[in-house]
Amino acid sequence: MRKYISVKTRRTIKERADYRCEYCLLPNSHSPSTFHLEHIIPLIKGGNNTLANLAYACTGCNEFKSAKTTAIDPATGEKIPLFHPRKDNWNDHFKWSDDSLHIIGITLKGKLSIQALNMNREGLLNLRQLLKNAGLHPPK
Ligand SMILES: [Zn+2]
Repeated sequence: MRKYISVKTRRTIKERADYRCEYCLLPNSHSPSTFHLEHIIPLIKGGNNTLANLAYACTGCNEFKSAKTTAIDPATGEKIPLFHPRKDNWNDHFKWSDDSLHIIGITLKGKLSIQALNMNREGLLNLRQLLKNAGLHPPK
């Protein structure tokens, strides 16, 4: 089921993502762990290895997302699709807090995706603070 992803495809995905996690925007250059090629729709749910279904993701976002593609809206019980890096624009669903440390959801999809992927986890907040101090955060 899991097919080989070519070196060229891997490079294309990294370049397309500007070498950042496509969920939390963490730069791979300042992450201690190697980023993953994440299947937006998991292989077990019928996803494939095409560029349209692959995203560049940090280890944390990839692990929290796991095989999820939706989250439950606690207000209605409705299943809401998670942020889809190929179909959705980050700035349409998220923004930085005034101090740039937290990602804030500006849509229901954004809010539920932040929760599902734990996009404001402690390690990220600390790293964002250090990157901000170094003039490397928030991303342009
Ligand atoms: Zn991430």
